[in-house]
Amino acid sequence: MSVQHFDPANGRSVQLDDIDWVEFPPGLSEGGIRWKLLNVAPEVGSWAAIYDCPKGSSFASHVHIGPGEYFLTKGHMEVRGGAEEGGVSVRAPAYGYEACQAYHGETNFLEDSEFYMTFLGPLNFVDGEGNTVALVTWETVQAAWEAATAAD
Ligand code: ZN
Repeated sequence: MSVQHFDPANGRSVQLDDIDWVEFPPGLSEGGIRWKLLNVAPEVGSWAAIYDCPKGSSFASHVHIGPGEYFLTKGHMEVRGGAEEGGVSVRAPAYGYEACQAYHGETNFLEDSEFYMTFLGPLNFVDGEGNTVALVTWETVQAAWEAATAAD
């Protein structure tokens, strides 16, 4: 609907229904994940977003360079390979904290799911050998969001 303009000097709020879902970059996910960018905070290098993840969708491998906190509002999510691989499998409603340098080889959605997450510091998307595919900072996120929503 409208492009969000972020003014780091002020607080802000977002009515989620006022923003349309945007396709998450297919190179960094599979299965039709959509997102809404809710905030960027350059003063701390963080951003916040909500994700709509259909059953069977997944995020590509990435490392959380800084910590992140999520709130799964709907569905069923496997993080860090799920419980069988030493990670976790959570059902909504669920909260989670992902530590600095947490490696998420695969994040899978076993049901239609939705979660909110705050990222403190960049996400490093990596290939099978740990090489960077995309280093995603708050600036990258804001640029991607503005490019995606400018087309409307
Ligand atoms: Zn992750």
